[in-house]
Amino acid sequence: MYMKEKASILIGNGLVVTMDDKRRVIPGGYVAIEGDRIVGVGKGDGRDRFDAEEYIDARGSIVMPGFICAHTHFYGALLRASPWFAKIEPPTDFMQNLQRIWWALDVLLTHEDAYAAALIGSIDFVKSGTTMFFDNISAPTSIDGILDHMEKAVNEVGIRGILSFEATQRRSLEEGVRGVRENERFIKKNNSDPSKLVKGAIYLHASFTVSDDLFIMAKEIAEKYNALLSIHAEEGLVDVFHNLERYGLRPIERMKRLGFLGPDVILVHVVQANDDELKIIKETGATVAHNAMSNMLNAVGVPPVPKMLKMGITVGIGNDGYIFDVFENMRSTYLIHKVWNLDPRLMTPLEVVEMATINVAKMFHVEKELGSLEEGKKADVIIIKPEFTPTPVNEETVYGHLVNTFNGRDVDTVIVNGRFIMKGRKLLTIDEEKAVERVHKTVEKLWDRLLEKGEYQLDYLKL
Ligand SMILES: [Zn+2]
Repeated sequence: MYMKEKASILIGNGLVVTMDDKRRVIPGGYVAIEGDRIVGVGKGDGRDRFDAEEYIDARGSIVMPGFICAHTHFYGALLRASPWFAKIEPPTDFMQNLQRIWWALDVLLTHEDAYAAALIGSIDFVKSGTTMFFDNISAPTSIDGILDHMEKAVNEVGIRGILSFEATQRRSLEEGVRGVRENERFIKKNNSDPSKLVKGAIYLHASFTVSDDLFIMAKEIAEKYNALLSIHAEEGLVDVFHNLERYGLRPIERMKRLGFLGPDVILVHVVQANDDELKIIKETGATVAHNAMSNMLNAVGVPPVPKMLKMGITVGIGNDGYIFDVFENMRSTYLIHKVWNLDPRLMTPLEVVEMATINVAKMFHVEKELGSLEEGKKADVIIIKPEFTPTPVNEETVYGHLVNTFNGRDVDTVIVNGRFIMKGRKLLTIDEEKAVERVHKTVEKLWDRLLEKGEYQLDYLKL
């Protein structure tokens, strides 16, 4: 007798955007999940092949891999619409932005703030279809153990991610080392445990706040544990000038000379890189996290992403802790290079969707497990149920709609590691209302502290 295969979840009759090597889009297709894995992807509703505990009819919906965010700061969410912005003299450039806003904030952050930030950020991610992220937090006065508080929040929501502490020597050499050690502690605790959805990595702030010694220490620890390394690179001109003055090298050149660069390194922003530096990135196999909305907000310029893609550099989309809705970040990425280069041909919808899914999986070295819908991969799946479709959504048009029509509020269902996190836009893992209430209370206290004690942080260590 013919026996059907078992599936815990079967999603049938959807428009399945696989993001596999052939970039197959299957109209009226199914995705079958058993446990934490995808066990089948094909045409139809899948019910002739699978005996499913739960069947979801996805007619009129798009089924695709969960989005992956290449770079974020959960704590960025804590300053959304904050009264602090009205109190300060508005920064006129990138360095003032750090001195007056972010460094004034980060020295006041507590473990509770870090927990609240990870909680609200994870919720924001789920509600707009992102199932994995790479976060880094800066909190120089609350270093030890901070990543455990954030991990607790991410686990409560149930998504997958990488947490890291932003090691910086801007206040002291000792704080920089402690930052790297916090990452090492977290990596040791989580990275070899396959049951953990949250992993660690090494993060350095930027090459203008990090000495050669710390670069080398960070690299050695990352290699020891086979962990990822990431750093803000050439976001503003201060980074370029600092390195030229001190070392006679541009930041990417200096990192190359230190032996820091490699396929394990994610360079964040890379706005100011010249052609020689792009060549170094390509040759070393380092990758780039692009944050279009943050670059616009901070008025730092636009990185040469179309050129990077042409050269074969892997680029993924991050949000830099600004707007968490991946659709807004994809839309901005789609548009910004056209206007900056006065060329409407630059960036196709498919390239942009790749930069928010499979490319980031490659950057995180998890492309064999995540980033596409394929048999044998981990089951991180989202269902998008568009509220409004002005033109037909089909095999041919779906990438155009993902970039031009849909938004985070259209994400109906989110599955991470084979587990429902959101269904019909309702979070199933935590009480959303209670969580938001707790976060608001924490933020109110943080804003009071900031208004009372917040100070511009003008000095950084002269390395
Ligand atoms: Zn950043």
